[in-house]
Amino acid sequence: MSDRAGVLRCPSCGAPTAPEARECAHCRANLHPIRCPWCFGWTFTEARDCAYCGSQAAEEASAAACPGCREPLSTRSLKRARLSGCVRCGGVWADSASFRVICDDRETQASYLGEGSPLPAPAASDPSSSPIAYRPCAVCAELMNRFNFAGCSGVIIDVCKPHGVWFDPDELRRIVAFIRGGGMDVARAKEQSRLEHERRRLERAMDDRLRASDGFQSPGLDSVASARDLLRFLLDNK
Ligand SMILES: [Zn+2]
Ligand SMILES: [Zn+2]
Ligand SMILES: [Zn+2]
Ligand SMILES: [Zn+2]
Repeated sequence: MSDRAGVLRCPSCGAPTAPEARECAHCRANLHPIRCPWCFGWTFTEARDCAYCGSQAAEEASAAACPGCREPLSTRSLKRARLSGCVRCGGVWADSASFRVICDDRETQASYLGEGSPLPAPAASDPSSSPIAYRPCAVCAELMNRFNFAGCSGVIIDVCKPHGVWFDPDELRRIVAFIRGGGMDVARAKEQSRLEHERRRLERAMDDRLRASDGFQSPGLDSVASARDLLRFLLDNK
């Protein structure tokens, strides 16, 4: 951590700057305030490092657009994962590889929930206030599928399998909290008992000839052996 951590500064001259300032009071540089998709602290499109969490602006501008507002998203990376945020609605996009990192890597999860911005995150949207809508992928604009993450988290995410996952405000925080609270183990146990139940049902229904034959395996048990596999199972099975 540098001594500049936690203080929002003009990316042009380094003078301390108010959040949401459109112009530096010292050097008059134009500023474009955005909220960091990692910590929700204010930063500027012109600033490389987020003053709060250290996430870094992507080298090239993002081609992705917010599935809700069609605003261009701004992309920032933290360690091995990238998130893109919409300044208008506070939603967050993760490409598929980055979402896997966030689900698998405890360090990335800790930084996401941890030493972030002192500012409150955008309020969660109230799902009951709006009708269920299928939204376009931020990359290809095909309508995304909707999943209850891990089957039992209660967080409904929008997924375009080849491209990534869209999170309404607060959804990614809830998913990370779910994983950190052991939710993937619970989901795996539930999935295993569902498959076991199904296996027993099939066994009861099978005639002796089929039961005696080689090669019968319960479907899918091996495919959910770890949290990462469970995630793959979720993303690869529609
Ligand atoms: Zn300045
Ligand atoms: Zn940040
Ligand atoms: Zn938006
Ligand atoms: Zn897509």
